Amino acid sequence: MSRSAIAVQHRSGTFPPPTLETLPVAVTANVARVRARTRSTIMAVVKADGYGHGAVTVARAAVAAGAGWLGTTSLAEASALRAAGLEAPILAWLHPSGIDAEAAATAKVDVAVGSVDELARLLAQTAPTTVRIHLHMDTGMSRGGCPRAQWDELLTLARRGQQARRVRVTGVMGHLPLADRADPVANTGAVAGMREAVRMVRAAGFGSPLTHLAATSGTLTDPATHFGLVRVGAGLVGIDPSGSVEMHGASRLTAPIVHTAPVGAGTPVGYDGAYVTDRATHLSVLPLGYADGIPRELSPQAGVEIYGHRFPVVGRVSMDQIVIDTGAESFPVGTSATVFGPDGGATPSVHDWARWAGTIPHTIVTGIGPRVSRSTA
Ligand SMILES: *Cc1c(COP(=O)(O)O)cnc(C)c1O
Repeated sequence: MSRSAIAVQHRSGTFPPPTLETLPVAVTANVARVRARTRSTIMAVVKADGYGHGAVTVARAAVAAGAGWLGTTSLAEASALRAAGLEAPILAWLHPSGIDAEAAATAKVDVAVGSVDELARLLAQTAPTTVRIHLHMDTGMSRGGCPRAQWDELLTLARRGQQARRVRVTGVMGHLPLADRADPVANTGAVAGMREAVRMVRAAGFGSPLTHLAATSGTLTDPATHFGLVRVGAGLVGIDPSGSVEMHGASRLTAPIVHTAPVGAGTPVGYDGAYVTDRATHLSVLPLGYADGIPRELSPQAGVEIYGHRFPVVGRVSMDQIVIDTGAESFPVGTSATVFGPDGGATPSVHDWARWAGTIPHTIVTGIGPRVSRSTA
């Protein structure tokens, strides 16, 4: 926004609130990047509200760009996509209170089954139609999935369920434990485990169900992990955990300056006076704090962009506000600051914020709080 446009808005009395804007064109471009790396079907993973970008928005863009499946953590997330009119096949893989057979059948959502016990509890329910299941083997993560030692028992129970038309095995899945490494050698154990799982599924008479193992990193770096389908989440919104492919950031976080003041040298800023100005300068306040997803632990490099320049965040991050030091510049209230975005130059990226906070980009994008307005470009 130009300075004169800001001045006009300021006179009108209001200005846009802190806003997270989702950029579907970036999702489209990222799907194309993924497509260039694999011929397998692409599942767009839109858990955690599409990694904070809006599950429906990201799902629609990904499907339009050629994703053949959608993936969510929970059945509730999957049902919300159905309610929004998305008709692509959907898989949900985590069921903290057990699989609700009726909900899965009604929403026509495939569910992952990761243990004998989970399948037994599914088969104990009645559902209006057959529930489509993907058998989930633990391929080395010890965080979910059926251990190899119980795989035979899981197949036996699944066969009984399929004969009774209660379930149909439509997929076999695993998950790569080394999700952030561009290192095919590190994946060989999981790939071998997956092949073994599939061989046993075929031998048990289930035909050749859809097989999937890779997430973004495996998809971008190791074709041996691709099988029939790849599950891509982070990559859709511009994050390549392997750091090997430049993806497009798919969101922009902006906030208006709500208070601005000249201060002298030696002025303490924020809680604990943890920062003290070392010269006469101008301070501006942005109405975003740790309750809105600004990490409280930040390196001194952290900053925001205003009119093509980077200005540092100074003092402690409060629950609702941060303070920026704009030096000789005095920006009027209402001036828009870009906290992060894909623009480059002085504009920080999500990756910059992750580095400043000592975390991964995923926690930045999924952490933006509900008080921040949402929009779509
Ligand atoms: C989150 C998740 C994915 C997607 O991982 P990304 O690295 O974000 O692409 C794939 N599979 C499972 C089981 C997941 O939980």
